[in-house]
Amino acid sequence: MIAIISDIHSNLAALQAVLDDFGEVEQIWSLGDLVGYGPNPNEVLDILKGKLSFSLTGNHDLGSIGQMDLNAFTPDAKEACLFTDKKITLENRRYLEGTKLVEGLSNFSLVHASPREPVWEYILNVEAAFENFDYFETPFCFVGHTHMPVIFKRNKPNAVAPREDAVIELDLDDKVIINPGSVGQPRDGDPRSSYLLLDDKNLTIAYKRVEYDVKAIQEAMEEAGLPRNLIDRLEHGL
Ligand code: ZN
Repeated sequence: MIAIISDIHSNLAALQAVLDDFGEVEQIWSLGDLVGYGPNPNEVLDILKGKLSFSLTGNHDLGSIGQMDLNAFTPDAKEACLFTDKKITLENRRYLEGTKLVEGLSNFSLVHASPREPVWEYILNVEAAFENFDYFETPFCFVGHTHMPVIFKRNKPNAVAPREDAVIELDLDDKVIINPGSVGQPRDGDPRSSYLLLDDKNLTIAYKRVEYDVKAIQEAMEEAGLPRNLIDRLEHGL
């Protein structure tokens, strides 16, 4: 079993809840944006560095280490990037510098944002998904970035919001873009952390939601002086 996590965004409480929820797995794959928005960049990186099979580059990861123009971000996101840049240790900065834009493993392609634009494009609808199906060679591509759990299948052109715990079979003759949702800042109206479990032998995925201590992370964000909007949105899952 492989746990696929994305968009943790320095939310230590959410990360811990998710790690506890899946327990022992063979591998953990991360789709990027380990940092940004939240108060705990170093704590999150210290826990995950030794656990991840690989780590992909997210826009917030780049923005937090001075490798992306911060004017590309919203004012709140920019402020959180600057906070992270100030706080992050040299060792953790080096780790983020070493993340990859694209990973390919047997039937799976993995990117933070989209196969066409690995760091920036948001795949929010069927049109964007269709424009991206030709940009990866494998049957399946995992993406993060939008913080929305969703599946796009080329053979069935609609966007499927997956049900919690439902086991979904992956078809090798299809082309599928799969988003596990966000661990640290869900945006589908459900404040619980989202991730998925991949059974790479039987080719099935299962979506998981996990409650975590939202109040604790909000207090830590207040103490850190992070923007009010970023604090408030966590309890609404928006
Ligand atoms: Zn993100």
